[in-house]
Amino acid sequence: MNKKVSKNYFNFKPLSFTVERNNKIYRNILKTVKNETKFCEINKTDRNLFFIRKSSFGIEEDSSSSIPNSRVIVVTSGKGGVGKTTATANLGMSIARIGYKVALVDADIGLRNLDLLLGLENRVLYTAMDVLEGQCRLDQALIRDKRCKNLSLLSFSKNRQKYNVTRRNMENLVKAISFLGYHFILIDCPAGIDVGFINAISPAEEAVIVTTPEITAIRDADRVAGLLEANDIYNVKLLVNRVRPDMIQNNDMMSVREVQEMLGIPLLGAIPEDNNVIISTNRGEPLVLGKKLTLSGIAFENTARRLIGKQDYFIDLTTPYKDPFQKLQEFFRGL
Ligand code: ADP
Ligand code: MG
Repeated sequence: MNKKVSKNYFNFKPLSFTVERNNKIYRNILKTVKNETKFCEINKTDRNLFFIRKSSFGIEEDSSSSIPNSRVIVVTSGKGGVGKTTATANLGMSIARIGYKVALVDADIGLRNLDLLLGLENRVLYTAMDVLEGQCRLDQALIRDKRCKNLSLLSFSKNRQKYNVTRRNMENLVKAISFLGYHFILIDCPAGIDVGFINAISPAEEAVIVTTPEITAIRDADRVAGLLEANDIYNVKLLVNRVRPDMIQNNDMMSVREVQEMLGIPLLGAIPEDNNVIISTNRGEPLVLGKKLTLSGIAFENTARRLIGKQDYFIDLTTPYKDPFQKLQEFFRGL
């Protein structure tokens, strides 16, 4: 499929944009109606075909062609501090390094810190709020990572202020990002289950629930799983973070399998408790970029490969001190 999007694509003044598909140029218009920016609607009944409806949004031409096939995945948890942002940064970087175009959306508006984890905090010039207010184009607000050009970050605010963002705002932004040709859009969700959570999940079709093997985090994860289902998100996977094999062996911590069975959600991966995670956070360098191979880095890479469907085995967290390549064995045998 030949798809290009013109540069003025997501300028929120009533500007037209062109999309080239199958050697045909389609011209559409974005309009601001009652201060809310409207975007073309996509008929989701057939995922391979889409029809841009003629509507009050000012769409000039109907078309049927391949939908931009982005996978929109929200990384969520309910409980705060369990590793959502860490997971978003590391999974995003891993998938980008494999060769896919990945956009990370920091939907934790009040406590933005995805930019810090990625070491991009000084490069946030424009944010999603500027895009929504018509101050800049979407491509200007998408910050490209210099270490991996396939990875971009969209922050919501520059100075950690809370803004009134609507579900429609989020959905429009994510649709627009997918039209820019991104294969994966990972949304870093805020903690809690209030309006920020609802906004963050609304554009997503898939979810990764992050939990630690603690009863409070598991209960929140269960609650979130129910809410995702209530919002028609059925493709949900589990990532168990901060696993301590030594504590599991002493029966002081639930095993990954027990956590998975309690929640009844398919397991995507398990990440060990590792001080390198904190070091990498402070350096603004995701673990998966580290020159030194760490078990948590390998675990994130494996999780990313499973997320994109390239791997179906788990690494063994019970052998952290063995040769790194020995770690790439089946994971759950011993846990
Ligand atoms: P959330 O986004 O869910 O609030 P964060 O990703 O910000 O959580 O992580 C919270 C804290 O936990 C951070 O200080 C992070 O460095 C630390 N952390 C996350 N995962 C691990 C891990 N596997 N091992 C050690 N520390 C971790
Ligand atoms: Mg966070």
